[in-house]
Amino acid sequence: MDQNLVPVLPVVSAFLRKEHGLLVDGTSVQARAGGRIEVRNPATGEVIASVADGDEQDVEALVQSAHRAFAGGVWSGLRPADRERILLKFAEVIEAHGEELAQLETLNQGKSIHISRAIEVGASVEYVRYMAGWATKITGETMDVSIAVPQGTRYTAYTRREPAGVVAAIVPWNFPLMIAIWKLIPALAAGCTIVLKPSTETPLTALRLGELALEAGIPPGVVNVLTGRGSRAGQALASHPLVSKISFTGSTDIGKTVAHAAVDNMTRFSLELGGKNPMVVLADADVDKAIQGVLMGGFLNQGQVCAAASRLYIHRSKFDQIVEGVADTVRGMTLGSGLDLTAQVNPLVSSKQQQSVCRYLDIARAEGARVLAGGGKSDRPGYFVQPTVLTNVDHSKTVVREEIFGPVLVAMPFDSVEEAIQLANDTPYGLAASLWTNDLSAVMNLTPSIQAGTVWVNSHVPLDPNLPFGGHKQSGVGREFGRTAVESFTELKSVCIAH
Ligand code: NAD
Repeated sequence: MDQNLVPVLPVVSAFLRKEHGLLVDGTSVQARAGGRIEVRNPATGEVIASVADGDEQDVEALVQSAHRAFAGGVWSGLRPADRERILLKFAEVIEAHGEELAQLETLNQGKSIHISRAIEVGASVEYVRYMAGWATKITGETMDVSIAVPQGTRYTAYTRREPAGVVAAIVPWNFPLMIAIWKLIPALAAGCTIVLKPSTETPLTALRLGELALEAGIPPGVVNVLTGRGSRAGQALASHPLVSKISFTGSTDIGKTVAHAAVDNMTRFSLELGGKNPMVVLADADVDKAIQGVLMGGFLNQGQVCAAASRLYIHRSKFDQIVEGVADTVRGMTLGSGLDLTAQVNPLVSSKQQQSVCRYLDIARAEGARVLAGGGKSDRPGYFVQPTVLTNVDHSKTVVREEIFGPVLVAMPFDSVEEAIQLANDTPYGLAASLWTNDLSAVMNLTPSIQAGTVWVNSHVPLDPNLPFGGHKQSGVGREFGRTAVESFTELKSVCIAH
């Protein structure tokens, strides 16, 4: 037996063999039309499980379940302290099943077990605990008002934040468990009920999360899980009139489709969308730290990170050193399954994503890019693409303008700081950016002019539950994390009392 390969837990193998249904009202129910969707292991391409292919009729049942639970007050009617206690219990349950969830995620999504353990599970458990605390901290305000009629009447006015109602949480495939949790827990803290729709490619941890919510004491019907195709189940969910709030993470194109559907019903929505995030390295930056920053910011999760550094702007004086340093490191990286503890490069999520990334690499070559490292898929089975560094590109090139969502970096030199910031902002996206310098004045002067929801200085990609995260421009609407996230699952009511 290969000592480097994590042995799959029996509980994980048993979960893969299950005839998974949709989670409706606390019960697993098969799709009415009986359709199934195959789930593959990206490291081998083999089918490892199947899930129900929910359609419009199934969506109706799930939304009705969430609506009944909301209207019945089984969750929103609890004391905030009880919601908090149950959410803290949910964190404990997720933690207790951490290795199981991590293995499921690695088998389904392809990512390294190290990342599944530390981020999908570890960071998510901290996030649950953080958000649980918000259940008891939702507040309104009192206002002094100057209403003059009827004469002599006095008024007391205040605002309340009330749970929005049924939430549609629509999640992508890059961090399936973590992004589901990003939506679920603030919505639950606010008192909402939920229909969670994982990606077609990566539905397994969402299904297990739904079961664990029940185990933690969240009443049946509060968390419902819909598996199915985006164009059908997702679209029906986003268009459903009983959904009060849509929290969507995914591509900008689908985000726009969802927003159009939402507007027809005046459903509230927040959108976390794509990015083409710049990393700007000034002349004084520390070269070794910048190289480490590129490796982490650009190649984490094979670059399938919405906030990944994918455009590098490096001062000409440091360009060769940094770009060669990155290329040298990635050339020596070993490819392998996410369950291989020594593998440094893991597969992309699907054959479709592998083909999409390779198509961009063909376009890059045709448009004259120089491939410094990587440049294509590997010969081994599974959906691997070598980590790739491209130079000799500019803003007229497709690979500089479009989100690739894979392990592909484009690197460009600059001469002046003004030029670097202008290039960094020359994109329809505005999710995240990073600035690498030890010059405090440069940091203070430049960060306001960078068009991005998050700007890191001397790092790229770390997130914290207390720090709002979301996009400018075509990278989205609204913010996740912190107070803002919880409030996004509430409606504001003004109360005005004459006395
Ligand atoms: P996607 O847009 O294809 O799918 C996202 C989700 O929407 C999936 O669950 C899918 O089934 C569903 N969906 C598809 N069509 C739908 C429709 N018509 N109506 C309703 N739902 C529908 O995105 P993806 O390929 O799963 O994920 C990659 C994208 O997600 C990238 O663009 C990436 O940048 C973005 N992303 C953004 C963030 C962020 O926080 N900003 C985080 C992660 C990923």
